[in-house]
Amino acid sequence: MYKRKLYLFGLLSTFILLIALASAAVSAHLTRTNLAQAQLAQSLLSEHQQLSSISYRLFKQLTDELIFGKNANQAKVRNKQQQIENSLNRIKSLELDQREALGLEATLGSVEDTDELEALIQGIVEEFRAIALSNDRTPLNQQQRLQTLLEVTIDNQFREAINSAVNRQTGVVSRINASIETLNTSIVWFTISLGLITCPFILLGCYWLFNALYQPLTVIRTGTDAIASGNYHYRLPETLDSEFTDLVKALNSMIARLQEHEDQADAHRKHLEFEVESRTRALKEANNKLTQLDAKRRQFMADVSHELRTPLTIIRGEAQVTLRQAAASNEIYKETLETILEQAVNLSNLVDDLLLLARAEMHEFTVDLVKSDLHNLLTQNMALWQKLTKPRDLDLKWLANNEVQVLIDKDRIAQVLTILIENAHKYSYPDTPIVLRVESESPNINVSVIDIGEGISSSDLQHVFERFVRLKRKGNGMGLGLSIAKAIAEAHHGTLSAHSTLGKGSQFTLTLPVLDD
Ligand code: ADP
Repeated sequence: MYKRKLYLFGLLSTFILLIALASAAVSAHLTRTNLAQAQLAQSLLSEHQQLSSISYRLFKQLTDELIFGKNANQAKVRNKQQQIENSLNRIKSLELDQREALGLEATLGSVEDTDELEALIQGIVEEFRAIALSNDRTPLNQQQRLQTLLEVTIDNQFREAINSAVNRQTGVVSRINASIETLNTSIVWFTISLGLITCPFILLGCYWLFNALYQPLTVIRTGTDAIASGNYHYRLPETLDSEFTDLVKALNSMIARLQEHEDQADAHRKHLEFEVESRTRALKEANNKLTQLDAKRRQFMADVSHELRTPLTIIRGEAQVTLRQAAASNEIYKETLETILEQAVNLSNLVDDLLLLARAEMHEFTVDLVKSDLHNLLTQNMALWQKLTKPRDLDLKWLANNEVQVLIDKDRIAQVLTILIENAHKYSYPDTPIVLRVESESPNINVSVIDIGEGISSSDLQHVFERFVRLKRKGNGMGLGLSIAKAIAEAHHGTLSAHSTLGKGSQFTLTLPVLDD
């Protein structure tokens, strides 16, 4: 396509050039022909002039010979006659050439007149010879003939004949010059016309070729500009000349690949940003947890110190007060010792609880698991738990099979249920029953302590298993019961969960895996 346009433009230019060359060749030929004709006419003219001059000199020499009786130099006379003959021959030859070139009409009379002129010259020379050789001794007669020859023949006839030939040639020269002038004018006008006609075509051709050559480059440049500015959605049109199709296809596939890479880079960047964001969030959360944990540890230390200090203060106070008395009775000492013992037991229980929790936290808390019958365990402890809830009713609702074998540390499981029953008793409405419900949820068994009371809000519920959490400071609880119960449940590969509805009551459920028969 692209090549075809170039060829087309080349053809157009060659055609115009050929027209110009043909015109120049025709002009050159015409000019040369005219110039040759002019040269021919000019040669004829000067040949006639030369003939006239030689003839007159010959006539003068012959006249002098006659008048002054000089002996004519025959060699010179012959020489001049020879020159006249040569000149006449040349004139004849030139006139024939001219006739051939210009045609009969333009040269009418020339060849014929020359023959007459030759005859006239011949006649004059012969007349001179006749006069010189005449026997007529009368000089007067001789003089008469000479005078006639000089005045009539030479002065009139010869001069007229030569003048007419010169005038004719002058006319031919003028006509040829006029023709050359006309030809020159025609060539000038033809050149101007040709220029005026071909110029628009050349300009249009140039404009068309320029567009044809430049348009693909413009399209490609627009495309590369688009790529450079990062517009990878841009596609170059594939309708350009065939020479550019491969280039355009290559550019388009390059843009597509760039777009692919850009998309991939974009996706990676987004993924990275997402990663960084989620890592930052995770770090923030971890940091928050650590901060909370640290705050809880501080709180724990403060709580432990406080809980240890209370019984120790009582022990010290009791001992000091008793010792200060001068004569304390045995009764008083006994009371004091009982109080100290009670506080020492509390202290010991507290230290045991703390130790248990510390071990559980370090995953070092272990229980002595023994295959046991759950129903037996509960019925054996019911009397003790009923004492704790007295005067309220503690109902055992056994909804599972009678035989439920579990792998447990009986004392620890009893401890868990004691904590739950004590809490139910402490934190529920008085005179409402407390239910101990057992039901199967294969492969586990659920033991729930259900009470009717104020319940726990959902925001508080998630903190009840934390150490030293006491929502309502009722009784002498230290906020360790539920966390110990949970640690024991988990040591049995079970769970301890809580459900509560404000104003209705709570349900704490111990879930234990049941042993297969
Ligand atoms: P505490 O020694 O205070 O009883 P716990 O760890 O046993 O410590 O219980 C933590 C807190 O959970 C209690 O202070 C109480 O506010 C709340 N709680 C526990 N059991 C119940 C219940 N059955 N009903 C309502 N609140 C309860």
